[in-house]
Amino acid sequence: GVVICLEAKPDTILKRLLKDAEEGDNQEVRPLLKAPNPLKSIVELKAFRQPYYALSDWTVHTDDLTIEEAAEEVIHGWRYIGSKTRDRVPVSAVSDAGKSGAPYSEHTGAACVVRTETEYYPVFVGWGLLDQLGTQIQQAGVRGGVHIISDDNVFRFHGERTKKVLEDAGFVVDSFTVPSGERSKSFETATGIFDWLVQRRSERGDAIVALGGGVVGDLAGFVASTFLRGVPLVQVPTSLIGMVDSAIGGKVGVNHPQGKNLIGAFYQPRLVVADIQTLTTLPRRELISGWAEVIKHAMIRDPQLLELLENHTQELMELNEKVTAEAVAYSAAIKAGIVSEDEKELGLRTILNYGHTIAHGLETATGYGKFLHGEAVSIGMMGAAEISRQLELLAPEAVERQREVLSKFGLPAACSGVNLDSVLQAMHLDKKVKDGKVRWVLLSDVGQTVIRDDVPGEMAEKVIRGLIQS
Ligand code: NAD
Repeated sequence: GVVICLEAKPDTILKRLLKDAEEGDNQEVRPLLKAPNPLKSIVELKAFRQPYYALSDWTVHTDDLTIEEAAEEVIHGWRYIGSKTRDRVPVSAVSDAGKSGAPYSEHTGAACVVRTETEYYPVFVGWGLLDQLGTQIQQAGVRGGVHIISDDNVFRFHGERTKKVLEDAGFVVDSFTVPSGERSKSFETATGIFDWLVQRRSERGDAIVALGGGVVGDLAGFVASTFLRGVPLVQVPTSLIGMVDSAIGGKVGVNHPQGKNLIGAFYQPRLVVADIQTLTTLPRRELISGWAEVIKHAMIRDPQLLELLENHTQELMELNEKVTAEAVAYSAAIKAGIVSEDEKELGLRTILNYGHTIAHGLETATGYGKFLHGEAVSIGMMGAAEISRQLELLAPEAVERQREVLSKFGLPAACSGVNLDSVLQAMHLDKKVKDGKVRWVLLSDVGQTVIRDDVPGEMAEKVIRGLIQS
């Protein structure tokens, strides 16, 4: 059957227990309340039981819900994982995933949910999931037509199959493809899609399915966020970066000639369906670049994921179904957990920028032509780890461990042929600079981040020089 966990924070549980005790008629005092410090006991008990709670299929956070609302949420969860999908997609869903990684189902699927203040949606991860896209979109409540937006590369491999699956589910489907590559993430391309949607007389209930990597996800998401003041969006990421990063969390947008991602919005999808089988057609360099983001998630949040990556590198590089599903699900759950806590990047979400301060400098200094994003992040992570070591926050062994895992995945730890001054200049212009200071995401251990804005400029410069010249 479907197991649904009704969760609450320790202080909510304590309040409820006290209320029960007050209202109860001659009830025996609950053993928990007899403890010298009931709140502490609840915290400990919860921590002890957490691995078991995490095995549930769906978690409902009941703190701010009435009984009726909680029941609604249970029904909502059941709809996603209930009778239809249950037989085909083994799914584990945890809304607070990401702290210790999502539990991985024995089979080929694993998932998490994103829960922001206003939105609640699942992320499905598994091998061959594209075949269930039609039913999943139906279950997400989409009743209108479906517009697939893709790029020519991705559509060539996966477009017709996606179309057929959706048509078989009864949707009226059409598609719009853009040239592959970052240049398509522009206002002009978006305008072309708006024109097409208007011409098709698209209506508010129609959904946009973003089938592709981060470029398509960001572009199609931007269109969905603004067309008719917002239409349903379904993210179907086909690149590894898309699956573990860009499709989750609702950042959508296009580039401006003056800078990347300058125009955009936070707009959450109705659901995310990551079919890892589609990665088999992803160019190898793109795949390797994607593993950098997975390694980043492990370094900032999850030693267990790091072990998985270290111990199964070969299988992951060969896209072994089971292990890849596990790693992608873990990584997606980490992103989902972080954005659930901080949708608009006001706090915690910053830790996702680990390695990105230097990466943006490298990318900008080289006109976004030399490195794939993950490659720049890989070098940037080595820089951030080295700064952490020099500040005596991080043990040298952890820096070496990171270097080794990056190298096992064929990712660079350093580079040549880049102008140091251009990198430094780009970094001071970087949008992550707040009040004139660079905010560094550093590590104090694997899975533990520290934000610092007092890294001496000379130290940073020396570390970056070492990365570029070595
Ligand atoms: P991309 O979308 O350009 O995809 C990389 C290349 O792989 C493209 O040529 C694409 O056609 C091809 N491709 C994708 N899937 C394929 C498949 N299954 N088979 C064959 N070819 C395939 O780039 P990306 O690396 O996926 O994403 C990078 C973009 O994502 C950037 O624009 C970045 O700004 C954005 N991004 C956004 C977020 C966010 O939170 N919104 C996060 C990270 C990155």
